[in-house]
Amino acid sequence: MKIRQAAGRFLELFFPAQCHSCEAPLATAPVPFFCGPCWLGIQPLQGPFCPRCGKPFSSPWALSFSPGHLCGDCRATPPFYDRMITPYPFTGVLAEAIFLFKYRKKTALSRPFFTLASSHLESLQGIDLVLPVPLHGLRLKEREFNQSLLLAEAIGANLRKPVPADLLKKDKITDSQMKLSRSARQKNIKNTFSLTGLSEVLDKTVLLVDDVFTTGATLNECARVLKRGGCKKVIGFALARTLLRPVEQDQIKKARNHSMEGP
Ligand SMILES: [Zn+2]
Ligand SMILES: [Zn+2]
Repeated sequence: MKIRQAAGRFLELFFPAQCHSCEAPLATAPVPFFCGPCWLGIQPLQGPFCPRCGKPFSSPWALSFSPGHLCGDCRATPPFYDRMITPYPFTGVLAEAIFLFKYRKKTALSRPFFTLASSHLESLQGIDLVLPVPLHGLRLKEREFNQSLLLAEAIGANLRKPVPADLLKKDKITDSQMKLSRSARQKNIKNTFSLTGLSEVLDKTVLLVDDVFTTGATLNECARVLKRGGCKKVIGFALARTLLRPVEQDQIKKARNHSMEGP
């Protein structure tokens, strides 16, 4: 009996029987840890997007007359990357899944994450290398895996491009960026990455992969190092983008509804 109980607990631990989000049974679930309706409810952000940083514009007509129009942040301080793709909002089921993946070692989610990512990468052309945002060695030891590398490897395999994971290195351990402001994040992350092989990035187009885009400070600092190393183009990809504060979201919704009434 004891053995059976222990086996049951073991199975529950690794194969939970309920959806992590809504607790529905997982008998026929298409992905681990989440039921079909919850997973299929993950919807991409709605465009149009800033052609540089990928931020959704509040007006659906923002790019109608000038497709290259950049958002205010990108005009004020142009990022080092050439383009950023952040298809999904970091909220709800996807945010829960990324948390499980990153902090609870549920690496089986990397395949469903790649499936979510893949349709947003189809149009990319001319990529030479896929690089993950690196973790510092000590952080890697703590976490045991780099979540961005798992995603980058799945993307690299699909695009049939190399993923030289050690090319970009995190030299300094930094405080968590979570509670820092945009400018504090930039300061915190500055000069913490380096390249281990300059010739490998020279004149190359790199797809730089992370899990979540918040202010973009980390991806931008990696892009700065890559560009300084002679990289031709850096395209960033993060599966999810942190949403704006609720008040700003309301403003966007109102502006959209208003704009939808006519240009
Ligand atoms: Zn569910
Ligand atoms: Zn922008």
